[in-house]
Amino acid sequence: MTALPMVVPDAGLPTSVTIWEVGPRDGLQNEQAVVPTAAKVEFIERLAAAGLPVVESTSFVRPDRVPQLADAAEVMAGLRRAPGVRYPVLVPNVRGLEAAAAAEVSDVAVFASATDTFAERNLGRGYEAQWEMFAPTVARARELGMSVRGYLSMCFGDPWEGAVPAERVVDAVQRLVGLGCTAISLGDTIGVATPGQVADLLGRLRGVGVPAEAIGVHFHDTYGQALANTLAALRCGITTVDASAGGLGGCPYAQSATGNLATEDLVYMLDGLGIRSGVDLDALIATSAWMEGVLGRPSPSRVVRARRRTAQAQPGTPGRQ
Ligand code: MG
Repeated sequence: MTALPMVVPDAGLPTSVTIWEVGPRDGLQNEQAVVPTAAKVEFIERLAAAGLPVVESTSFVRPDRVPQLADAAEVMAGLRRAPGVRYPVLVPNVRGLEAAAAAEVSDVAVFASATDTFAERNLGRGYEAQWEMFAPTVARARELGMSVRGYLSMCFGDPWEGAVPAERVVDAVQRLVGLGCTAISLGDTIGVATPGQVADLLGRLRGVGVPAEAIGVHFHDTYGQALANTLAALRCGITTVDASAGGLGGCPYAQSATGNLATEDLVYMLDGLGIRSGVDLDALIATSAWMEGVLGRPSPSRVVRARRRTAQAQPGTPGRQ
């Protein structure tokens, strides 16, 4: 039997995409279970071995804020780093940055909000006040020769404020670029965006001179729109897409909903479109199947589930459509 998906390219899309794997950080941070350090290290190493070029590994935040990632230094110390793979970490401030530098990290990320309410709740200060908090962190990271990604939350909607004006998101992106961020990730934190909204925002960013190469997209599948939004972004020339292996990590503000776009679902679509990502889908699925055992719950990834059903089903079962 020939492997699926069939490969049928689309001329309007990029020929290669960089998947920014966030499972070990964004995924595990939002899981109920606390995963042992050794399992985290194995997870990161398996993801890199599956071909993911960027594996965001942990977060140097206060352990009382994110107990799931309290072992950040131990994880980075235990990791056998593969050549050519980047292992970024989140840092909230200069203190976290210095801890990351001591762990021989060369890529960091700061996290900002496009809305006042989420900035207040997540950072303890409003939209306007957050920038001065990031400035010394980004400046020091650049001084150390690190790349700095700026995560921007609530770019397409906010659970407290509702709609988020695109002008506000453009302003926030420009501020992060102005601070010295080398890349920006546009987060649909509650998973409410639709493809036209994505294309509109990306068009506005292009209009003010932010290059598509500097932008990554971070979609959540809460409303089932993550892949549609990803395709819309690819049509706008975006070539960096965030995803979480196995779909790990729900959104803490939408408890019943699925969270991060599953890396397997993204790779399946990219493979079908003939877009290179370098990722071995089978190795990735095997990794997520292993992680299901660690977490004690099934993966929400459609591809992980479909492949399991396919493996269990007898070929030629009558009545299947
Ligand atoms: Mg996320």
